Amino acid sequence: MNYQRIIEDLYRTILREPDTGSVAAYIPELSAVDPDKFGIYLTTVENENFGTGDCHELFSIQSIAKVLSLSLAYNMLGGELWKRVGVEPSGSAFNSLVQLEYDAGIPRNPFINAGAIVICDILQSLLQDPKNDLLQFIREVSGLPGLDYSPEIAASERSQGYRNMALIHFIKSFGNIQNDIEPVIDLYFHLCSIRMSCAQLTRTFLFLANNGRDTRTGQAILNMSQTKRINAIMQTCGFYDEAGEFAYTVGLPGKSGVGGGIVAVHPNKYCIAVWSPRLNRKGNSQRGMWFLEQFTTETQLSIF
Ligand code: GLN
Repeated sequence: MNYQRIIEDLYRTILREPDTGSVAAYIPELSAVDPDKFGIYLTTVENENFGTGDCHELFSIQSIAKVLSLSLAYNMLGGELWKRVGVEPSGSAFNSLVQLEYDAGIPRNPFINAGAIVICDILQSLLQDPKNDLLQFIREVSGLPGLDYSPEIAASERSQGYRNMALIHFIKSFGNIQNDIEPVIDLYFHLCSIRMSCAQLTRTFLFLANNGRDTRTGQAILNMSQTKRINAIMQTCGFYDEAGEFAYTVGLPGKSGVGGGIVAVHPNKYCIAVWSPRLNRKGNSQRGMWFLEQFTTETQLSIF
């Protein structure tokens, strides 16, 4: 499979089409990003690399980081975790409040904001020094010892973080936030502030294509069963109310972020990351979705 040629051909094709999305404006730091950035990178489980465009430029990975906080919490707590958060697609927007009332404060899944905030509460209880310990875990998984939170992005998101504040207060009223609100929401905003490039993202998430093991060191980050389940949740919930569309058009487990990044995994084959900041109406990268749809069509590789 000539991944490099396919990636470059599709990159050029998509660049010729007008990008109909718009950059996330509700986080001031994100609205300052050049909307025409476009990068793609693919790493195989044999550690071969292919990429083009702005694939080495850092950007805010936002909700993609929720897969890492979930991995750490799941690893530490095991199946107990699912008493606090569900594994059902929500069918509603990533920052929606409506279902929480009906579901008595148990978020539908760990990737909508409500669920990721509960995961942060779980980590706040489990870890000695939550912000540092979570960062240390992400540094180890990514192989990037210098990786850090972006205080500017975290502060920017907090300055407009009314919905996330509403979510955490609402969940706490049902008893599903066990710590004080401030450190938990601070952990959440910092988790979302991490910046990586497409090339760093594929390296970081490759373990999900490799039965939970780091392809370079052989170290297990998750066991096989946990890896299968995280991939299943990415498949059904990774794109919020567009998860069905992503499964239908792309056919891979994946996770998006409002910074315009998407990571997708082909188990036992590769991890691919795409970045293009303009988002469609569901908050997912417009060009990223187009690219991945055409990529899995062209390669004729999908999990289905
Ligand atoms: N930090 C963002 C928020 O809480 C994450 C949303 C996303 O990337 N979908 O709104």
